[in-house]
Amino acid sequence: MKRTPGDLALFGGPPAFLQPVAVGRPTPVDRTRLFERLNWALDNQWLSNGGPLTCEFEARIAELAGTRHCVATSSGTSALQLLVRAAELSGEVIMPSLTFVATAHAVRWLGLTPVFCDVDERTGQLDPARVSDAITARTAAIIGVHLWGNPCAAAELEKIAADHGLWLFFDAAHALGCSADGRPVGGFGAATAFSFHTTKVVGAFEGGALVTDDGELAARARALGNFGKGLEGGSPAGGTNAKMSEAAAAMGLTSLDAYEAVAAGNRSRYERYRAELAGVPGVTIRPCGEQERSNHQYVIAEVDKTKAGIGRDLLLELLRAENALVAPPIGVPPCHQLEPYRSQASYELPRTEALASRTLSLPTGSTVSAESIRRLCALVRFAVAHGPGLTDRRREQALAEGQ
Ligand SMILES: *Cc1c(COP(=O)(O)O)cnc(C)c1O
Repeated sequence: MKRTPGDLALFGGPPAFLQPVAVGRPTPVDRTRLFERLNWALDNQWLSNGGPLTCEFEARIAELAGTRHCVATSSGTSALQLLVRAAELSGEVIMPSLTFVATAHAVRWLGLTPVFCDVDERTGQLDPARVSDAITARTAAIIGVHLWGNPCAAAELEKIAADHGLWLFFDAAHALGCSADGRPVGGFGAATAFSFHTTKVVGAFEGGALVTDDGELAARARALGNFGKGLEGGSPAGGTNAKMSEAAAAMGLTSLDAYEAVAAGNRSRYERYRAELAGVPGVTIRPCGEQERSNHQYVIAEVDKTKAGIGRDLLLELLRAENALVAPPIGVPPCHQLEPYRSQASYELPRTEALASRTLSLPTGSTVSAESIRRLCALVRFAVAHGPGLTDRRREQALAEGQ
């Protein structure tokens, strides 16, 4: 219990948590089931190249995503790259800056140029009006991102892409099992990419997948990810190796077994945060999927300094000192503020920058207990109750330390 500002760990008190409470811890899996699957694969002596576990994983992801086809890959990045190559894109690709840098890197690595657009202030997602403004003769595609598991304006982006004859892909690394306009996110645009990196809601150690209803696109992407084998007439890009191994599929399947339970647990953690922080001036939990299915993989808080009396950065510092390892959300800093994009072009993305400076990601996932959330929220309430005093005190401390 903190009674005075001097009790805070930032000012010399003992931390509220002995064990760090973190964002993005891997979800524990049923080890017996995992080892059963691994043993089965070893006995089977089929360890990669579209083995039975990978096929099963693909079928289950396609079902969850509501699509006819799924191609499992070695990562979310390689899924995006196979799509870019399968569509034989060149030139510019419009995307939000507020996304994990992998969305931009995937495209740039293949010699295309990401063009960043601002987000809608309310939703935090790519703003379709800004996308229309950014289309030029060089534009080849749009990549929508369902940031933090919330759907972007997928149907509007579909209309824009159709009007301009552009390819439309989605990065749904945060949105496995989520819906947009009541439809599973996988069904929009030409194809959608997922990531099964270990920090995501379903993990395969490393892994990814693309889903689509376009059988030809799926077949091209699959062939390109297997050294271009079986492509009639070959491909100008040759091919690469982006296959998922049976070990990754074993992990992915076992993690997928727990998906519904993990998503339900995430939902109750998200609701607990909302209840605990209701009425705290200047601190809001960004709503997530009220009308939609959501995996609630991220709980994102927004701090309005004028109302809270304390800014996002100090709140972050203060909570981290207590061993509550809150962090800026994934996608912050936004891509246009990171190299190599920063020195390539200058962007005016005021809404992206405002959101990036106000948001933080709260610890969730099945390793975070209700008690930890209660204590963390008590710290937030304490910080806001003493906001201006803490802000002054931290400034004096920094001056004294010569920072
Ligand atoms: C994690 C992530 C990726 C990359 O996925 P990997 O499997 O790590 O390559 C891409 N986009 C977003 C939005 C992500 O969060």
